Amino acid sequence: MRRAVLCVALAAAAAACAAGSPDARRVEAAIAAVPSLPAEMAAAIRSDRDAFVRDLSAAIASDRDGLLVRVDKARRLGAGYKPDDLVPLAKGRSYLPGRDGLALRAPAERALDEMARAARADGVTLVASSSFRSFEYQEKLYDRNVRELGKAAADRESAPPGASQHQLGTAVDFGSITDDFALTRAGRWLAANAGAWGWSLSFPDGYEGVTGYRWECWHFRYVGKEAVALQDRWFGGVQQWMIEFVDAWLASGPTARPAP
Ligand SMILES: [Zn+2]
Repeated sequence: MRRAVLCVALAAAAAACAAGSPDARRVEAAIAAVPSLPAEMAAAIRSDRDAFVRDLSAAIASDRDGLLVRVDKARRLGAGYKPDDLVPLAKGRSYLPGRDGLALRAPAERALDEMARAARADGVTLVASSSFRSFEYQEKLYDRNVRELGKAAADRESAPPGASQHQLGTAVDFGSITDDFALTRAGRWLAANAGAWGWSLSFPDGYEGVTGYRWECWHFRYVGKEAVALQDRWFGGVQQWMIEFVDAWLASGPTARPAP
């Protein structure tokens, strides 16, 4: 009987201790910073916090190329931001450049080539139709969409300047850039396999309230394989929650990373 009481007391002390640990406080701060995160996801993170922090730390440690940067309508890049390691999308690689003048950051281009090689082995050709876009290019594109569609419709599928993942140089629009792309062999291949190569569907169906954009079956962002694993295991496969959490976690840490 006495031993049972002691165990209960020890368990309570351990729980109290864990709740007050630096990791626990960081997890709570990051959860609070991602208000759209569903309560059941936050609960799953809390209930297996050590495993979560391990996965999170692995994804961050493996991000040597600075891929896990938050960019969205609420967190914009400056007009002067342009990656310094852009390389042109070239003929002779496993993917097909849809036109001249396309470019990606070097690690994303390598990852695209690697993924496209796997697609080719399955008899599927991946066509990259849009890639890096400068702030100025995005400004023109957005203004044109607003003129043609009206602001409300444009805002559902077109990022204002500074808010586009394309300015990071790690996002690709594939194929036709229309809903029909989902029905093509390439669209189906990407939906099933992109994650295994570190590419993540940025704007999945049904999450416009979270991502700010309607479903875009053609738009994938390279985040790395470990980040996709983190996103799939803990964030329901939703990149936006994973990126927002990583951003909040890094902001609260001892070695906060400078914004691009
Ligand atoms: Zn796109």
